[in-house]
Formats: sequence, structure tokens, C-alpha cells
Amino acid sequence: MNGRIYNFNPGPAALPLPVLEEIQAEFLNFKGSGMSITEVSHRSKWFDEVIQDATACVRRLLKLDEIFNVLFLQGGASLQFCMVPMNLLPEGQSADYVNTGTWATKAIKEAKIQGRGIKVVASSEDKNFSYIPTDIAFSPDAAYAHITSNNTIKGTQWQSFPDTGAVPLISDMSSDIMSRSFDVSPFGLIYAGAQKNLGPTGVTLIIIRRDMLERVPQDLPTMLKYTTFVDHKSMFNTPPCFAVYTVQLVLRWLEETIGGVEKMEKINREKASFLYRAIDESGFYTGTAEKESRSLMNVTFLLPSEDLEKQFVQQALEHGLGGLKGHRSVGGCRASIYNATNLDAVKALADFMEEFARKNG
Ligand SMILES: *Cc1c(COP(=O)(O)O)cnc(C)c1O
Repeated sequence: MNGRIYNFNPGPAALPLPVLEEIQAEFLNFKGSGMSITEVSHRSKWFDEVIQDATACVRRLLKLDEIFNVLFLQGGASLQFCMVPMNLLPEGQSADYVNTGTWATKAIKEAKIQGRGIKVVASSEDKNFSYIPTDIAFSPDAAYAHITSNNTIKGTQWQSFPDTGAVPLISDMSSDIMSRSFDVSPFGLIYAGAQKNLGPTGVTLIIIRRDMLERVPQDLPTMLKYTTFVDHKSMFNTPPCFAVYTVQLVLRWLEETIGGVEKMEKINREKASFLYRAIDESGFYTGTAEKESRSLMNVTFLLPSEDLEKQFVQQALEHGLGGLKGHRSVGGCRASIYNATNLDAVKALADFMEEFARKNG
């Protein structure tokens, strides 16, 4: 099998094999241009078709209507932590944040640097971020409410989105965008670094509702204003062409080979249930997220000792199963099973987990 392993990396993460093969096949001569996609002008018809098609795919897959703009930016999800409050939190107003783990904590820290009213309305820090808070009292007059839909490091995920009334929701969806269907209408802005579920690193997908653009202050640096990228269709400066091209191919694969987000969600639910069953039935592994908050994308678990965890990660790799070490900040193990990690990979991991537990339990 061409030496490739089953890849459970948290990000950058696995890409669909057919996408990698397509990139390889057209890498030297992109669509008869005589050049690689990495060599053509971003103003050429070749790249123009790529970015327009990627945008159209996002619209179709998430059923976005005209009031939403689709943008491709740089700077990762991390740049959005400051761009969101800079652009969308007017002076004198405040914004609600829910702290559900490492990335949410960083979003809050960056928002506070802007020196505006940031209210942490709920947090799961009391239990090491092992759950998603419920019954949150959101402020009816907040400029927006910010959540992190999937907590990549802690392995928790919002099972449904909170009702914030007329207050627009903003979500970091870096690690679960396109993994399940949801109603976009309550969202003022969604952002997602591509390297988990959409493509390679280097590009961030932004979905922004038109009315949010009215808040963007005139005096922000040009490169930090959403309106700049709306006005120039993500081409104010040279965009990350290769990353956008790969995202286009991943979205086409999701649409044509998988059959869309609903189909993908079904597969993702099946994948996750395999692994959670392997954990729950083992008497050996312990899931670190509370059951009702478990992520479909990042399955986090502990073994009886750190020594066994080391052996597990090592032996898994010898079996062609890579990327299972937990984040350095939390330890343990983590299997990231984004869209591109297929059921075969998950079954192979579940089998390995069962065998390892039998030998070491
Ligand atoms: C990976 C990740 C980030 C950080 O993304 P960068 O593109 O590296 O800035 C932010 N939020 C979430 C939820 C993530 O999973």
C-alpha cells in the first residue's frame, strides 16, 4: 500500500488519498497551462477558476445563501482570535465568550488584548474542560457570542448550538467544519483553519454574514479588515494559491465521492462510535471527555499508566497507525478522525486497541 500509514494526526492531518493523487497527477502541468498551480499567476484564469469553484463548493456544502460571504485568509485560526473583536466588537459594547479549552482560552486572551468588554459567561475549566457547559446565561445585549464548536485538544464538541436569540453566534470551527450539518442562520461569522478538515495549512476559511461588515471600523490596518477581503474577493494580495487549490479538491471529494455533509456526518458518527465502544467496553482505556460532550473528531483517552501510553503509541506506529499521542498539554492518547480518515483506518485502530488491551490489561 505505497508505504502510507493510517494517519490520526490532529493537524496538519490526513488528506483524502484521491486528492493527493490528483495533486500529483496535475502537479507539473496544471490543466494544460504548462505550469504547476504553484507557478501560475493568482490573477490567471486557472487560479480564478480554482478559487471561484472552492467558494461555490463551500456555499453548496453548507447551503449558504447570498447574505453570507466566503473568504480565504491567511494567519490561521489564531489570527481570527484578534480579528474578530477588532472588526466586530464596537467600542462601548461587550462580547460573550464560552471557555471550553485551550483554543477558546487563547481566543479569550487575544480578545482581551483589544481592551474591550469581554465576558466569560461559562467555562468548563473546573473539570479540566472535559465537558461543554449547558444552561448558559448569555447577555441579550452582547455584540456577539463566541464559542469553539469542537475542542481539538480536550476531545469535546458542542452537540447542538446554544440559542443566543438575536445575538450573532461566532464559532471557531477549525476542527469540525464540514463534518456534520448544522443551521448557519444564527451565525454572524464562522472561521476554520484548513489543516484539520479542509486541506493543508496556510489558509483559513471565513464565512461572514453581510450585516456584520457594517461594524468593521474604518481605521483598522487594511490587511486586518474583513471588508478588504470581501471587496477584493479574497484577492487583495497574493492568496495562498496551493492551499486554496487543495481545499477545492477536498471539497469536491466531499461533494462528489462522499455525497455531501449529511453523508459525511453519518460516516463520522459511525467512525466515532467504533472508537468510543473500543474504549467503553475495554475496562482498560478511560475516555477523558464526559459522554454527552464527546467529540466526533478527536477521541481522547488514557491508559492505566504513562508507561503503557508510550508503549501504545510506539506499537501502534509499528502497526501503521500514526499520530496517536495526546497533546503535550494534556498527555494521554488522542485519535483524530477527521473527514479524510476513513472507516478502514478506524477499524484498524479499534482492532489494535482491543489487542493491546488484551495483552497488557
Ligand atoms: C488547530 C486549532 C486552532 C489553531 O489554528 P492555527 O491555524 O494553527 O492558528 C484554533 N482553534 C482550533 C479549534 C483548532 O483546532
